Amino acid sequence: MKNPVHNIYIHVPFCMSKCNYCAFFSRACSNPDWGEYADGICREIMAWSEKLGRISVPTIFFGGGTPSLMPVMVFDKIMTQIHNYFDVVQNAEITLESNPGTLDFGRLRDFMVGGVNRLSVGCQSLSDKKLQFLGRRHGVTDAIKLLDLAQNLGLRTSADFIYGLPGDSADSVRDLCEQINKLGLQHCSLYELTLEPDTPFGKMNLAMPDNDTMAQMYTTIGDTLNLPRYEVSNYATTGNECRHNQNIWDGEAYIGLGRGAAGRVNIDGQWYEQLGANGRFEQISPATRATEMLITGMRTMRGCRLTDDVKNVIDMDWVKSNSDLVQMDETRIRATNQGLLILDDVLVKLVK
Ligand code: SF4
Repeated sequence: MKNPVHNIYIHVPFCMSKCNYCAFFSRACSNPDWGEYADGICREIMAWSEKLGRISVPTIFFGGGTPSLMPVMVFDKIMTQIHNYFDVVQNAEITLESNPGTLDFGRLRDFMVGGVNRLSVGCQSLSDKKLQFLGRRHGVTDAIKLLDLAQNLGLRTSADFIYGLPGDSADSVRDLCEQINKLGLQHCSLYELTLEPDTPFGKMNLAMPDNDTMAQMYTTIGDTLNLPRYEVSNYATTGNECRHNQNIWDGEAYIGLGRGAAGRVNIDGQWYEQLGANGRFEQISPATRATEMLITGMRTMRGCRLTDDVKNVIDMDWVKSNSDLVQMDETRIRATNQGLLILDDVLVKLVK
């Protein structure tokens, strides 16, 4: 029996410098050993092919870190290895995460020749003052330049933003959304700033907006942005959703390549939790996997797919008596607008 499709996430753990809020697995390194990095990823691809066989791959996502720092030759080497060992489906979505200031016309075009068809740009803010506060190395002009370049080259383009900084309000977030609307994007992500320990921000005593203000900002985004919300933090025109993330949120299998990259692998019908190449690799039960699917699926507006395993972990009596919070049809269960506001509580009740 052929194993099911697996999406591929490739972690590129290098950045020019660390941003003040960042707890991602990445390190500041201006001159990494790219040869060693590429060889490591290629070995991982070969090892997975031994476990999984020649699986089909619908999406590949280079995330980080700052993947756009990668020499195109390194990207090409990794892509060649993937094509050698797996069946990358026709029109597969291939995303590169990028930071403004790291790609010019020539390099971006070369990445496209190598297969990149979607660019995600870490803009984070449309205020130079806020970018500086966040510890970003680029300015607003660099971000707009990269977005324009990508759009002019015909790439599917997304931009990431962070809101909920000290001093932010519903009004400042409305301004941000109105400016985003002028960028003509098909996709963007807006993440709330969270203070992580072991980051510069985590050690500062920042006066963060209170929970009510945060909730107002979230509602303002939904009311102002001209892209529909399709997941708690993601917005896109129909058909321009990030397929990679959607597949994963919908419970498809995925492999994480590179140190610190997580995956959920399915071998001969058995699910495994995976971390990096030599990190964790443990069987997980169908109930655990179904609960994970519920947690990610319920964050999407289309809701969670109702597989038999998912149905088995849902408290159906609770669902029937809480139609103001969750709605179910033949194929999916989703949170209502009211349910989305208290999603964590809903999930606790929803799972048996
Ligand atoms: S560029 Fe991204 S991954 Fe790198 S330090 Fe900044 S936030 Fe973290």
